[in-house]
Amino acid sequence: METLYFFILVLTVLMLAYKRVPLVWAMAIMVTATVAWTELRFLFYVPSWFRWSNGIVAVILIGFTIAPLRRLLISDRLWGVFRKALPRVSETEQEALDAGTIWWDGELFSGRPRWKELLKVPAPSLSEEEQAFIDGPIEELCRRTDDWEISEKHRRLPDELWAFIHEHRMFGMIIPKEYGGLGFSAQANSAAVMKLASRNLTAAITVMVPNSLGPGELLLHYGTQEQRDYYLPRLARGEEVPCFALTSTTAGSDAAGGMNDTGVVCRGEWQGKTVLGLRLNWNKRYITLAPVATLLGLAFKARDPDGLLGDEVELGITCALVPADAPGVEIGERHMPTGAVFMNGPTRGKDVFIPLDQVIGGQERIGQGWRMLMQSLAAGRAISLPATGTAGGKMSSLLAGAYARIRKQFDMPIGFFEGIQEPLARIGGRTYRMDAARQLTLVALDLGEKPGVLSAILKYQLTEGNRQCINDAMDVHGGKAVIMGPGNYLARGYQSLPISITVEGANILTRSLIIFGQGAIRAHPWLLKEMAAARDPRPGARKAFDKALFGHVGYMLSNMVRALMLGLSAGHATRPPVKGPTSRYFQQMTRMSAAFCFVADLVLVTLGGGFKFREMLSGRLADALIHLYLGSAVLKRFEDDGRPEEDLPLLTWAMDDSLHTIQESLKGVLQNFPVPGMGRLIKWIIFPFGSSYAPPGDETIRQVADILLTENDARDRLVDGVYLSDQEDAPGNVQTAFHLVLTATQAENAIRNALKTPVTWENHEELVRKAVESGVITEEQATTVRLAQEAVRRVIEVDSFSREEIEGSGAATASAATEAA
Ligand SMILES: Cc1cc2nc3c(=O)[nH]c(=O)nc-3n(C[C@H](O)[C@H](O)[C@H](O)COP(=O)(O)OP(=O)(O)OC[C@H]3O[C@@H](n4cnc5c(N)ncnc54)[C@H](O)[C@@H]3O)c2cc1C
Repeated sequence: METLYFFILVLTVLMLAYKRVPLVWAMAIMVTATVAWTELRFLFYVPSWFRWSNGIVAVILIGFTIAPLRRLLISDRLWGVFRKALPRVSETEQEALDAGTIWWDGELFSGRPRWKELLKVPAPSLSEEEQAFIDGPIEELCRRTDDWEISEKHRRLPDELWAFIHEHRMFGMIIPKEYGGLGFSAQANSAAVMKLASRNLTAAITVMVPNSLGPGELLLHYGTQEQRDYYLPRLARGEEVPCFALTSTTAGSDAAGGMNDTGVVCRGEWQGKTVLGLRLNWNKRYITLAPVATLLGLAFKARDPDGLLGDEVELGITCALVPADAPGVEIGERHMPTGAVFMNGPTRGKDVFIPLDQVIGGQERIGQGWRMLMQSLAAGRAISLPATGTAGGKMSSLLAGAYARIRKQFDMPIGFFEGIQEPLARIGGRTYRMDAARQLTLVALDLGEKPGVLSAILKYQLTEGNRQCINDAMDVHGGKAVIMGPGNYLARGYQSLPISITVEGANILTRSLIIFGQGAIRAHPWLLKEMAAARDPRPGARKAFDKALFGHVGYMLSNMVRALMLGLSAGHATRPPVKGPTSRYFQQMTRMSAAFCFVADLVLVTLGGGFKFREMLSGRLADALIHLYLGSAVLKRFEDDGRPEEDLPLLTWAMDDSLHTIQESLKGVLQNFPVPGMGRLIKWIIFPFGSSYAPPGDETIRQVADILLTENDARDRLVDGVYLSDQEDAPGNVQTAFHLVLTATQAENAIRNALKTPVTWENHEELVRKAVESGVITEEQATTVRLAQEAVRRVIEVDSFSREEIEGSGAATASAATEAA
């Protein structure tokens, strides 16, 4: 009996915390419970310790509910401590933190994501006009690009392709129609870049850059009406080729801090008149499209030493438009990025004068450049590079699956070996997840969100996912992928991988510093409020601090209880938003969201401002947050696609991998928890029965590999949106061979069984003849086998060149020297 009362008390307290009952209500419930139990003692036995315990909890809650009392006793005392522990945030960091909005990341940081809200978000879609553009001009541009010719012969995008791009206003996808652009959604912009990237990275980057962070985007959001009216139509028509020059030779990831480029306010000559303007000096590198640009978007530090604009000397980072033909501008030299031959190079400027009108947004925007860039990146980072990353995943799925089916070793398609099925499953599962995250985030952008944290997650994960997929695809192909030539459809993607990993926030930095560092401050329901209140010197701020602090304490306690109860019940304590095969995954994600929030909070509270320098912990917490988001996207995608049963292996792989990653990341944090011994205690709370999630199982791996090794709807959905070549080129040949091999399988098996010899492209002529003669296969089947074997031969063969072709004139000299020796 006593034990029962003990459980009633514990359960009441736990339920109040689990359900996040507001403090006033919790207090009222406990006061009522105390009175009720006291009265009920006249009817049946109620132990006095139990009534007292209820009373004590009620009194504590009353104490916490009286704001002046708790301020006096607790929060006013902690205010000073908190102020000291606050991380020091520079102006540029603050601007990055302020940029963008919080979306589903806020729900993940709540510890109890509202899945029904996520499921209400519209499914991704393109308008008819956008789809027609993707199926028309974009498809046609893909058809006209020849990767080998572009990379090896021209080493640039040929003029006719530039003309095609301009003719179809591909530089104006983000520019509204009233300015002559295409006015596309983020979804369409991404679809266009993804399709182009699936064919040729040089074309994709060339189209992508003017539609990403640069003059067009900045003018749209911050330009003066005059600037928009003049430049946007010119950019849309391709009369201006823009580039955006931020990266100084002295800078890199610390683009703002390391910037040495200056703009000094002065008077100068512009179009025959003396006007107030800026004298610019810069030295930038890595700038995409710079060698052919006509209009430079330039970031520099503006100074006003002569006080021509006011009292301030250091005006801050500023963005301006500089015509490439202005005196003193130097462009034209090219860098040679790995694997792609898009225009990229340095630019320098010596005493280039521009009037203040050329500052994007005019004089009032001087010094606001960094904020403008961060605001734009908050959305833009989710579009272009994630599109190229997803293209890599989709092409890896398509090509590695097809190749593994047509390439035989030990008399079996290599895809039938379990060793190959593992990388195939990784490619398929990752691609499914990458595409899900890409599409969900684009929907958010088209709804008007600028989810800075989620954009950083996409940039990092989808470029990293691309690397993992292409690496696996390379291994599946073996030598075929290693030998360069027109027949190699993978190596160029492999070579160019590091580009997307490095640009728009290099990945290590994005993972270690930005995703969780920014996410924890922005998406956390209380941290930003506490920080703002603690920084605010006004007396009223202490009231706000008290509210935020107690909100935070409640949130933390609740997450602890939720993590424990969800752990003890293996997630069953929460109700999933749907029934069916994914319902358990929803429950597990809720469980991990609570566990993540609890662990993250404890780390933040323990380390305070020092957290900024613990990048290993931050990186692991970032991994957990990333996979909470990716898992959410996967579950949403399955619903959006109409819950196709055939996709379940892909979903299972992705979810099992994500849950396992979250678990291992949190365990990694706890293993290295800053307070010795505490990690073990927290581990007991969030994983009360030990590890809960295993990586994808063998059966799932087999099933995913099977999707990639056959023609089926799940595979079609997986690779949807890439360019499927029907030409006689390298990717087209694999596609054709794959289809023919699958069609000819029955006939080949019949030949093999009857003639006891496996069919290969070397012996097939004779075997087919004999099989037809002996009635094993029909003439029609014979044709299929011949076509299939011929197609396989074309794919399996690799390119070889004469020595002169490879070594040029040096080959002859070398041969002569060898002979002479
Ligand atoms: C092909 C290409 C195209 C580009 N196009 C443009 C363009 O059009 N316009 C433009 O302005 N710039 C452009 N860039 C510049 C690009 O954005 C920068 O290269 C990028 O920001 C990284 O700078 P970095 O290469 O100097 O690397 P570094 O900053 O030197 O970084 C080196 C390594 O250190 C890591 N690192 C740095 N700081 C930290 C930290 N605090 N914590 C953990 N790790 C850290 C990075 O993640 C990276 O792995 C381009 C670059 C390339 C290569």
